[in-house]
Amino acid sequence: MSQAQPPHRLLVMKFGGTNMQDAQAIRHSASLAGRSVREGVKVVVVVSAMAGVTNGLLHLADAAQSGDIARANDEIAALRTRHFTAAQELGATPDSETVRELRELHETLRQAVYGVYLLRELTPRSRDLIVAFGERLSAPLMSLALEQSGLRARHLTGGEAGILTDVHFGNARPLPTTYERVKDRLSGFLSAGVTPVIAGFMGETEQGALTTLGRGGTDFSATIVGKALGADEVWAWKDVDGVMSADPRVVGDASNIEVLSYGEVMELAYFGAKVLHPLAVTPLQDSGIPLRVKSAADPDFPGTLVRSLPEDVPGRPVKAVTAIKNVSLLTVTGAGVLGVPEVIASVFTAIARENITLLMVSQSSSMSNVSLAVPSADAGRALQALRAGLPSDLQVEETSGVAVLAIVGSGMRGQQGVSARLFAALAGEDINILMISQGSSELNISVALHGDAVDRATAAVHAAFDLSQPVSV
Ligand code: ADP
Ligand code: ASP
Ligand code: MG
Repeated sequence: MSQAQPPHRLLVMKFGGTNMQDAQAIRHSASLAGRSVREGVKVVVVVSAMAGVTNGLLHLADAAQSGDIARANDEIAALRTRHFTAAQELGATPDSETVRELRELHETLRQAVYGVYLLRELTPRSRDLIVAFGERLSAPLMSLALEQSGLRARHLTGGEAGILTDVHFGNARPLPTTYERVKDRLSGFLSAGVTPVIAGFMGETEQGALTTLGRGGTDFSATIVGKALGADEVWAWKDVDGVMSADPRVVGDASNIEVLSYGEVMELAYFGAKVLHPLAVTPLQDSGIPLRVKSAADPDFPGTLVRSLPEDVPGRPVKAVTAIKNVSLLTVTGAGVLGVPEVIASVFTAIARENITLLMVSQSSSMSNVSLAVPSADAGRALQALRAGLPSDLQVEETSGVAVLAIVGSGMRGQQGVSARLFAALAGEDINILMISQGSSELNISVALHGDAVDRATAAVHAAFDLSQPVSV
């Protein structure tokens, strides 16, 4: 389906880690933004850290905390070389503003890491400050590339751009006042013909402490800005064609999905599709601003359009299959569970208090046990919370090494036979199902299985639903 699109007024463009990985990638990303600016579109650019930098920063922060300052300093030096090389290749001279700024940022990073080393303490707050340097360092490089291509640009941190968050370090959420602030801070630049370049992934608290929005958070920064400015669309440029029927690294013949609803994308992201932050579409839902996921390598390919109102494809109830690895199952058993709703209530209360993502819940039909699937990283905290919050005659056991596989698609609603097809595909591969649940939205069915079978399961389910065949709506 191709339709003449009305010309856009304002686009927010997000560039991911691969699109920022070196001078060449940054120059190409700048040219994608520049193309629209030259067509008369106002563009706000939101950038990720160079690929691999966020993980590097997390490692060096851990090294400093454990007392290995030499390793932390080596890693800082490597990051420094990488950013300076990119700046130089983008045309920055040694006495340029960009080089001066990169030098200052690296010095501040070095001091923050040294503080962690002296205290041997890495709090969520100091980890956020350190990990966000990746985006703070890549934003000046994008500004430089835009300027070198003849545009006027100005880079800002998330906080400077107006993104105000709660104090949930590591996983912060924007406060409602964010939207007005972002609009106030960016409108002047836009009307003066300057392209703002915002360091993604971060905001700041009302007290001015830096926060991050969770891994993959630059997608979320871009949609926050998109909502604030009433953008026509938000474009997330990626190293993949769009949102695909499965992770292309796991399923070689995964196909691009042309249209998805906000709800479908949220389910996919929540159940492990790393392509977008799970909350990325939430700012767009009220206003109905579409999100496009586009391939930087093939900019004219339409990619995936995410918007309200899914278009169900006849014969395609399931649009994608996805999986989360490193999951633990926690099973609450004991005579006291039997028919006692308060027990279920205390299970949920204990988990909610710890702010743990609950991936699946199921209660056996005899009501004699309740099972929960949680990320393994949170299992220890969840176990403690459950043991503290439940009557002492109940036992809680953990099974680790589990994965959760989910099939997602709005067309499953009320369709017969979808689960049968899923279970047959798994049975055909001799894969044992540990737990089953269907979300109340009926946008997904998820199953827990042994972690070592999950890639095989994903490929089998993908084939069983014929997802390698691209479909047009
Ligand atoms: P970015 O830095 O651009 O946000 P990410 O690495 O965070 O990029 O996300 C893109 C990656 O997500 C792809 O390289 C791909 O391996 C992975 N991915 C997982 N599931 C999917 C999916 N269903 N569709 C597309 N990509 C997926
Ligand atoms: N750089 C951050 C991360 O790796 C944020 C992002 O890329 O979206 O999680
Ligand atoms: Mg990402």
